[in-house]
Amino acid sequence: MPEKILVTGGAGYIGAHVTKVLLEAGYDAIVLDNLSNGRGDFVPDGRLVVGDIGNRAFLNHLFAAHSFAAVCHLAASIQVGESTLLPSLYYRNNVANTLTLLDAMVAANVKQLVFPSTCAVYGAPSIQPIPESHPLNPISPYGATKLMVERILQDYSRAFELQSAILRFFNAAGAAPDGSIGEAHEPETHLIPIAIEAALGLRSHLKIFGDDYNTPDGTCVRDYVHVMDLAEAFKLSLRYLQREQTSLTLNLGNMQGFSVKEVAETVMQVSGRSFDVRVAPRRAGDPPLLVGSNQRAAEMLGWTPRYSDLNTIVRHAWQWHSGERLPVPNPLPPSAISNNLLGLPY
Ligand code: UDP
Repeated sequence: MPEKILVTGGAGYIGAHVTKVLLEAGYDAIVLDNLSNGRGDFVPDGRLVVGDIGNRAFLNHLFAAHSFAAVCHLAASIQVGESTLLPSLYYRNNVANTLTLLDAMVAANVKQLVFPSTCAVYGAPSIQPIPESHPLNPISPYGATKLMVERILQDYSRAFELQSAILRFFNAAGAAPDGSIGEAHEPETHLIPIAIEAALGLRSHLKIFGDDYNTPDGTCVRDYVHVMDLAEAFKLSLRYLQREQTSLTLNLGNMQGFSVKEVAETVMQVSGRSFDVRVAPRRAGDPPLLVGSNQRAAEMLGWTPRYSDLNTIVRHAWQWHSGERLPVPNPLPPSAISNNLLGLPY
């Protein structure tokens, strides 16, 4: 029998890629998503349960109906800028609702979790590439919520023997090379898809949020990691937890940084189209430089990024965005929802 894995947020950008990789690896992946940001059509037929991780009664039914071996918990609010404006939303969604999920897991005796954390837990780091041992000092509510959950997981590990793989993502980017799924947020706030939308003529220009940072060209530097590489790390983490029966915390970076200007130039190069780029004020919560070490991920999981060059990452994103799959608001083919997973009406 293939192991059954619950993927919360599995209709979202990263979650859908995780689900794809897990299904291809032979896991029986079930997606739980409230479709607030996710797309039902990203989830293969019969695998989507629509519901909320903050609803304990609902979770109790879900865990009673399925025998999950582990949970990959990607349901979260994810925008650094928005988190500075709406902190309550972030603490509620990312911390309070995660507690509800963890308590339901413990009650159902599901004791393994893969949790995507973020490089935002480091704040404005002094060492690059950043090792996992770097002091943790988030400068945005988003980073703070992820760090709180990391801390909660340590306490749940001691109290309930819940084992977790904490994966501190750097900047997720790109799309499945087969063009089946890609990055579609509504509204879009991330740099690469916004630059692509500008190249496609769907936006009048790209705004650069600040060109007066202490970086080589004055714009922020980030470490872009292919979403399929991140998804692969979830699979390797599930295997690690099963094999080692112990928790771990890792960075998932490429060990190389690109500035906002370099990303804009790469999108122009890959798309063969130029677009207007305008300098705008800094965005709250943005540190100047974030590049991640992946040495520990290589040692502990055998993880090395397969698609590490920016050109390939942007090319896959461009293929998806410029293909048939321009974002549409939450299309949900009726066959995608598996009502009978629970026997409950949704
Ligand atoms: N950025 C930008 N213009 C945009 C969107 C993002 O200049 O329209 C910058 C942003 O300030 C940051 C970098 O691009 O320095 C990456 O931002 P993104 O939102 O993609 O990811 P984050 O680093 O917030 O996770």
